[in-house]
Amino acid sequence: NRPGAAFPFDNSYVGLPPRFFAAQAPTPVAEPWLIKLNEPLAAELGLDVETLRRDGAAIFSGNLVPEGAEPLAMAYAGHQFGGFSPQLGDGRAILLGEVVDRSGRRFDIQLKGAGPTPFSRRGDGRAAIGPVLREYIISEAMFALGIPATRALAAVTTGEPVYREEVLPGAVFTRVAASHIRVGTFQYFAARGDTDGVRALADYVIDRHYPALKAAENPYLALFEAVSERQAALIARWLHVGFIHGVMNTDNMTVSGETIDFGPCAFMDAYDPATVFSSIDQHGRYAYANQPGIGQWNLARLGETLLPLIDEEPDGAVDKANGVIRAYGERFQAHWLAGMRDKIGLAGQEDGDLELVQALLSLMQAQGADFTLTFRRLSDLAGDEAAEPAFAASFREAETCGAWLAQWRERLSRDRQTGAERSIAMRGVNPAFIPRNHRVEQAIEAAVENGDFSLFEALLTVLSKPYEDQPGFAAYLEPPKPNERVLATFC
Ligand code: AMP
Ligand code: MG
Ligand code: MG
Repeated sequence: NRPGAAFPFDNSYVGLPPRFFAAQAPTPVAEPWLIKLNEPLAAELGLDVETLRRDGAAIFSGNLVPEGAEPLAMAYAGHQFGGFSPQLGDGRAILLGEVVDRSGRRFDIQLKGAGPTPFSRRGDGRAAIGPVLREYIISEAMFALGIPATRALAAVTTGEPVYREEVLPGAVFTRVAASHIRVGTFQYFAARGDTDGVRALADYVIDRHYPALKAAENPYLALFEAVSERQAALIARWLHVGFIHGVMNTDNMTVSGETIDFGPCAFMDAYDPATVFSSIDQHGRYAYANQPGIGQWNLARLGETLLPLIDEEPDGAVDKANGVIRAYGERFQAHWLAGMRDKIGLAGQEDGDLELVQALLSLMQAQGADFTLTFRRLSDLAGDEAAEPAFAASFREAETCGAWLAQWRERLSRDRQTGAERSIAMRGVNPAFIPRNHRVEQAIEAAVENGDFSLFEALLTVLSKPYEDQPGFAAYLEPPKPNERVLATFC
């Protein structure tokens, strides 16, 4: 076990033309300390866990660049809150390289907060411990919920301060992603009129993420369709668990279909489609219920970059791309409704199902019902009539749910499923545990104020099995008390 020989690197992005990235080594830090190593993930990726346990602080801080790494910062552009920046790029993230896991899938290993890069602009290239812990908790929670997301391999503190509104302990987050290619990566080349760059990137993405499309009649149009499909499915899944990304800029939307960049993201407690947590989202552009539409807007930006590849004839290219953008709406709606049917336990499909789902959501909104608990308790009720009072207690006025329950039972009577079967299926899609904002903030506060990571560890444990009851963690089921409520999140 030579120090730093822990990763079987097999790097491909570095083989793209030089204008795609800037070679950049991490900047060493004063006193690295390993907060957490995700050992199961490390093993899955075929990494040398023993070496990482021993040298993890040095490796995951960037002090020891592991053998075979070819560190670089990726170039990208992006629309941020609707305004276009032709050059963003990895300003504080450094791609160490790629590994191919045991089932043949390729992953990026990236350090976030590893120091300045040529793309840093005015930033310091660093990250504070709070956002690092938040990304660790929420990305792993998403994974356990079964929602495509980048993953957390490690977190370290640097022993150095970072200067935000206050002075905070610095940290580095190690992210694992199917790739870090974003809508904004395509925009970077398109904004420069660099059609060869767009084509080289599209070919790389097809090879890496959608190899079957090589045989398609129009591979670039097929690529646009495939990305639209993955994003439609992904954003539907967000809505099914009450997730609000918070910064759906085009540079934060992957072409792989993974959720990326867990900044001010949060899960809602009481159901309200207008919910916004992010302190920088003044106008609610990225509110819970706006996410599907923003997904479509972002995909339209991707489609624009692909036009010259889709068809030599400009009008033809626009027609084809518009077809994909329109179809996204139907794709999203189909994924969303299918998931909502599952959430309320409908096995078959009937015409009135959408209205039944909407009636419940309207009632939940009017009655301040907790999104997660309502569906979890409905899952219990499906298998046990005695659970009705617990379900009804989700609503401010318990008696208001009676009429909806009668409609629901009438609808269920036409599905060929026993209550027990239905309850099991519903409990598999309606989580008991989500990373509630107040719990995340409590875990961060304990770490920052007292160097106490026990709440962080407890959260990781409970969130690793979100669909199991875990009686020992009953307190984590509860929505925040009025004095615990966290209304704003920060990047
Ligand atoms: P984000 O809002 O996290 O998607 O980041 C948008 C852009 O700002 C990206 O180019 C980041 O690399 C850059 N950025 C964010 N924070 C920092 C920082 N502390 N130092 C340098 N660049 C940063
Ligand atoms: Mg970002
Ligand atoms: Mg960010």
